[in-house]
Amino acid sequence: MFNVKREKCHQCNKTVYAMEKLSCENKVFHKRCLRCKQCNKLLSTGNYKYIEGKFYCGPHFKQIFLSIGHYSAFSDEKKNPKKVEKKEEVKQEETKEEEVEKKEEVKQEEQKEEEEVQKEEEAKEEEQKEEEVKQEN
Ligand SMILES: [Zn+2]
Ligand SMILES: [Zn+2]
Repeated sequence: MFNVKREKCHQCNKTVYAMEKLSCENKVFHKRCLRCKQCNKLLSTGNYKYIEGKFYCGPHFKQIFLSIGHYSAFSDEKKNPKKVEKKEEVKQEETKEEEVEKKEEVKQEEQKEEEEVQKEEEAKEEEQKEEEVKQEN
């Protein structure tokens, strides 16, 4: 009995024999299984890039690296949100002015309604007077 350690490919989880074995980052691969996570391009031990547990080709490593850079830039904005706050303040002032205009419009409408109600009430009073006159007769 040969006590052969059967190593499994990190990518396809199948047994890797010495002939096709390729090891990097303490992981074992078939030579044909070490590929860029992004474009599936075949990599070799000489040209792969390893980041966050994944393997990439040169160009895609740059892409991932830049996107991580963008993330940190974004978190810097969160730490210094003064610009955003100023924008929100301006917006609030704008909405306040709009509200004032709306209130004035509402007041005008209310005045019109009040005038109409007064006219109706006056008309009703006149009708009542007329009815009273009729009843007296
Ligand atoms: Zn494999
Ligand atoms: Zn790639």
